[in-house]
Amino acid sequence: MTSWPPAPPEPQDAREVGAVPRDVVVVGAGLAATQTVAALRDRGYAGRVTVLGAEGVAPYDRPPLSKHLLDRTAPTWLTDEIGVDLTAVADEVHLDRPARGVRVTGTDVAVATDDGEVTADALVVATGARAVRPAGWEAALTLHTAADADTLRAVVGAGRRLVVVGAGWIGAEVAGVVAAAGGDVTVVEAATSPLSTALGARVGALTTGWYARAGVRLLTGAQVVEVRPDRVRLADGTVLVADAVLAAVGARPATAWVGTGLPREPDGSLRVDETLAVVGAPRHVRAVGDVALRRSARHGWVPGGHWDGALRAPATLAADLLRVGAPPEDPAPYVFSTQLGHELALFGLPGGEDDVELRGDPADGDGWTALWFRPGTSTCTAVLTVDRPRDVGAARRLFAGAALPRLDRALARDLARGLRDTALV
Ligand SMILES: Cc1cc2nc3c(=O)[nH]c(=O)nc-3n(C[C@H](O)[C@H](O)[C@H](O)COP(=O)(O)OP(=O)(O)OC[C@H]3O[C@@H](n4cnc5c(N)ncnc54)[C@H](O)[C@@H]3O)c2cc1C
Repeated sequence: MTSWPPAPPEPQDAREVGAVPRDVVVVGAGLAATQTVAALRDRGYAGRVTVLGAEGVAPYDRPPLSKHLLDRTAPTWLTDEIGVDLTAVADEVHLDRPARGVRVTGTDVAVATDDGEVTADALVVATGARAVRPAGWEAALTLHTAADADTLRAVVGAGRRLVVVGAGWIGAEVAGVVAAAGGDVTVVEAATSPLSTALGARVGALTTGWYARAGVRLLTGAQVVEVRPDRVRLADGTVLVADAVLAAVGARPATAWVGTGLPREPDGSLRVDETLAVVGAPRHVRAVGDVALRRSARHGWVPGGHWDGALRAPATLAADLLRVGAPPEDPAPYVFSTQLGHELALFGLPGGEDDVELRGDPADGDGWTALWFRPGTSTCTAVLTVDRPRDVGAARRLFAGAALPRLDRALARDLARGLRDTALV
């Protein structure tokens, strides 16, 4: 029997009717997690916050693990780096209580751990990424955690042979610092140039000469077929004898623990909207940092892997979760790197089919900037600066608008022009 007037439909999500969560569980205890708790408190949140971590150590910063592998032997604690003490802003911090699973209903969440469930009415997934170690490469080290850095540090040094598989951001950084300390370093790269996944083959190739100048042997187009603790064998039969082998072949979102509890992309990432709400889950479930594949009005879907994103996105997440009404921020994807004696900053997402324009001559040693454009257009999708601090601020501002910037390509090539002055209005 139906009554009149009919009852309103059951909300899919209790948060839809305007409730602010009474308690929040944050899974992960890295940069994005720490910033999330700080952002909730900054916005006046007085509810209960529980943090679950997996490494058993206080939150620390990852970029120094490679850049300062040999000259900073202790972690760079986030308390010092960003001025947030997680234990002071969260009610409960369990640094060694990894999440094992999650159950989400329309009103709350339950996170499974070895010590029982943690329930709350909002969940923030901030479990970052894990380094990829291909099957059969168990003898290779990886570099993702402070413990990994300790292990690697103990086996590299002057006169010792290190084979790095992968000439990406981390491979290049480690190769440079180990060679500078007198290590005998060989980098093996399957693609035809370094950094080709991030920058494409043409721009990546402009970094090839840096390796020899830094005393690093670089083998490109080289397929690894066997990894042992003391050697790496290549498809052409070459055997590289090593004291240590580092696999630096990328990272994937660390979401295996989620299982089928939340919708995951094939690479493990959690797709989120502009407010960091997980697409396909109730709005009291958020994901931020390296786990998130974020929708950006300017760039489309932005994968994780950006320190700056983990630093900045939590402010938007907190404002939306607490309904304080601030419009979502849309930070440009931004990666910085110090490698082989060069300072790099990449803003935006280079497209595989994009045209590339260069500002400055990579051969003259004075720094240069690469700009990516949608084919045949003035729409700029990404800017890479190499040893050109003057272009860094300009590039950042170019990607601060609502849409991708449009630039006069001929003017943008001209180093005499300020990069921002080449924007078309
Ligand atoms: C060596 C290295 C160098 C880097 N250099 C740069 C750089 O120069 N520029 C740049 O832009 N980016 C750099 N990055 C990437 C940058 O550090 C990340 O983008 C950033 O740390 C992401 O922060 P996050 O909080 O999302 O993840 P993380 O910092 O990885 O934190 C996630 C935390 O979650 C924990 N966790 C995982 N699973 C669970 C679980 N089941 N339960 C509970 N906790 C869990 C992890 O142990 C970890 O502590 C670098 C990364 C590495 C590894």
